[in-house]
Amino acid sequence: MTTIAQALDKAYQSIDRFEAKLLLTTLLGKGRTYLITHDQEVLDEQTLDLYESLIRRRQKGEPIPYITGTQEFYGRPFRVNQDVLIPRPDTETLIEIVLSLSKKHPIRTLLDMGTGSGCIAITLALELSNTQVTASDISQEALSIARENAATLKAPVRFFESDWFESIHELTLFDVIVSNPPYIHPSDNHLLNLTYEPASALTDGVDGLKAIEKIIQGAPGHLNRAGFLLLEHGWDQAQAVRSLFNSNLWETPQTIKDLAGNDRVTMSRLRS
Ligand code: GLN
Repeated sequence: MTTIAQALDKAYQSIDRFEAKLLLTTLLGKGRTYLITHDQEVLDEQTLDLYESLIRRRQKGEPIPYITGTQEFYGRPFRVNQDVLIPRPDTETLIEIVLSLSKKHPIRTLLDMGTGSGCIAITLALELSNTQVTASDISQEALSIARENAATLKAPVRFFESDWFESIHELTLFDVIVSNPPYIHPSDNHLLNLTYEPASALTDGVDGLKAIEKIIQGAPGHLNRAGFLLLEHGWDQAQAVRSLFNSNLWETPQTIKDLAGNDRVTMSRLRS
């Protein structure tokens, strides 16, 4: 016979206390106070086995959002699995920038490229009710998660499969294009800690700038006059990204820092 209190005590020996509680509340479908008010409740064999398997997954290093199947982004829960990148707080910077941009420049249409879980597109569709949001990804698996998130969160987003601009009709133009593309350099040590996430969402396998370069080159053909392109990138890539906006079609690019003070988003506008 194992009570909630005993199961937690045992879990604390191998994983973080907060995470141990989170995994148990997710499994029981209850809130955190339940664990305190019902700490003498006996867990049945099956629940206990399941709980132990979740603890083992965490112990091996699997990220919590893949175990619980959910990650919060901009205050909303997004379903995630190993087909999509786990939404990061860094990316909320991109959201904030688009929201403040929309106050000065009405955004009628917006495209999110490489949408993954759909977190950027869905958040913007819900925050900007007058903007028609479209999102693309090369991965069908990612698109099915993104569609599911849009349906659950009731976000009117149009999704389609495309390898960057490849499948976008040449006449389709947007006011704003955004992307959080794979930008980690393949030899960056951070990748060693990110083995559970899809490699193609994290790195281009070349130098971390290939996807960004492709988007910057393709964007002028898919932006309306004076349209904006906003790209998330690594803390040390701002200079390199700005120098990729090298055609005179673009205004001087601008880099914005995230909440941690790191360069995170570079944007530019098509000259009108
Ligand atoms: N747009 C998604 C996100 O920001 C996925 C990004 C990616 O897979 N590189 O989380």
